[in-house]
Amino acid sequence: MKNLVIVGFGGMGSYHVELVGAASGITVTGVYDIAPDRIQAATEKGLETYPSFEAVLADEKVDAVLIATPNDSHRKLAIAALEAGKHVVCEKPVTITSADLEAILTVAKKENRTFTVHQNRRWDSDFLIVRDMVQKEAKIGNVFHVESRVQGANGIPGDWRHLKAQGGGMLLDWGVHLLDQLLFMTNSNIKTVSANLSFILGDEVDDGFTSFITFENGVTALIEVGTTNYVKLPRWYVKGTEGTAVIQDWDLSGEIIAPDRTVAKVEPKPIQAGQGLTKTMAPPSEESTTRSAITPVAADMSGFYDNFASVLNGEVEPIVKNEEVHRVLRLIEAIFEAGEQNKVVDFQEEIGQVKA
Ligand code: NAD
Repeated sequence: MKNLVIVGFGGMGSYHVELVGAASGITVTGVYDIAPDRIQAATEKGLETYPSFEAVLADEKVDAVLIATPNDSHRKLAIAALEAGKHVVCEKPVTITSADLEAILTVAKKENRTFTVHQNRRWDSDFLIVRDMVQKEAKIGNVFHVESRVQGANGIPGDWRHLKAQGGGMLLDWGVHLLDQLLFMTNSNIKTVSANLSFILGDEVDDGFTSFITFENGVTALIEVGTTNYVKLPRWYVKGTEGTAVIQDWDLSGEIIAPDRTVAKVEPKPIQAGQGLTKTMAPPSEESTTRSAITPVAADMSGFYDNFASVLNGEVEPIVKNEEVHRVLRLIEAIFEAGEQNKVVDFQEEIGQVKA
C-alpha cells in the first residue's frame, strides 16, 4: 500500500478521497492546505494534517502527493515534491504552459520519480462510446467529423478561475478535458487550428471558446465550451460515412441514425420549409434508416488510481502519458494564438509524436 497526501483540499482535492477508494493499492493518509477551514474539514474526515508543504515533503512515510491547488501553483509544488523523492499526481491542467511541464519532466526524470496527470474524463462513458466509434469504425462507419461541447449558463465558477495569473479561464478548465479526449481518440497529427475565445462576461480570461481543428487523416473537430448558454447543444454530434450519432448529455440520452443497407433506398419526399419546398433538407425516410439507442461501452483500461498503483509497483506504463498531456498543452497554446491573433495556426507536430 502506498501513502498519498492531498495538497489542496478544495472542491477537487476532497473528491480524490472518494476516487482513490480501497482497491487501488493507494491510501490517502493526509492533507495539506493553506486555508485553515480546509485543514479543519480534513481533520473531521479523520485525515492527518500538516502545518506546511515542507512538513509533507519531510515525512518519510509519504510515497506520493496529489496536487489539487490553483493552476499557477502546480509547477512549483510538483518540482519541490519530486526533488524530495515523492511521486506526483497532478490535477489538470498540469501547468499553464508547455514549457512549465517540460521543467517538471526534467526533474521527474532526474529524480527517477513518477509524475502523472489526472485526466479523469478519459473514463467518461459518453467519451468511451465516441472513442469506440472513431477507433473501431463501429456503428456509423468511418468517422470524419466530431463535435464535442459542454455548455452551461452559470458563468466562470469560483474565485481564482477568473484570474489570468492563476491560470483561469475555460480553455484551461473544461477545454483541457475536451481536447485531451479528442487527442486520445484521434490517431493522427493535427494539421490546423482556428479558434474564437469568448469574453462575454467581461473577465480578463475567456469564459468559453470554439475551436475548429483539422487532422492529417481528414478528420475534423469542433470543440466548444460555453458558460453563457441558457439552451445547450448536444454533448456530442458525430458524423460517419454510415450514419450520425448524437449524445445529448452525460445520461447517454441520444441516438444513432444510419442508413439501412438491407432495403432499397427510399427517395425523400419534398417538405414545406418556410416559404419554399425542399427535398435536400427533408429528413431521411423512416423505411430506409435505422435508429438505435446509445449504449455504454466498457473502458478497455484500468481505473486511474489502479493504474497509478501498478505504475508505482513498476508493472505497467501510466495510462495518461506525459507526452500526451504535453501535446494537449501545445494545442491549447495554438488555440490561444489562433483566437488572439484571429488566424489559422499551422500546427507543427513533432516527428514520431503520433503512432502510425
Ligand atoms: P478550489 O479553489 O476548490 O480548491 C483549491 C484548494 O487549494 C483550496 O482549498 C486552497 O485553499 C488550496 N490552496 C491554494 N494554494 C495552495 C497551496 N499553495 N498549497 C496548498 N493548498 C493550496 O479549486 P478546485 O476546483 O479544487 O481546483 C483545484 C485543481 O483541480 C485545479 O487545478 C483544477 O483545474 C483541478 N480540477 C480538476 C477537475 C477534474 O475533473 N479533473 C475538476 C475540478 C478541478
